Amino acid sequence: MTAGSSPVATCFRCGVSRSSVSDLEFLAWSSERAGGGVRWLCQVCSKAHVRDIEGKLPDEYWR
Ligand SMILES: [Zn+2]
Repeated sequence: MTAGSSPVATCFRCGVSRSSVSDLEFLAWSSERAGGGVRWLCQVCSKAHVRDIEGKLPDEYWR
């Protein structure tokens, strides 16, 4: 199975690429729409990011 049209997913927080994790781990990745694109979060950063969302931190915090 190939996904020719979609770019390789990369965690926007820590930079790990989808190809470096197992399919099972990738199931735990989350994506969010941002400015016409999609940002991916790996399974580790997703957990951390949930806490951030709960804290209602502004997006500028991550620059
Ligand atoms: Zn990550």
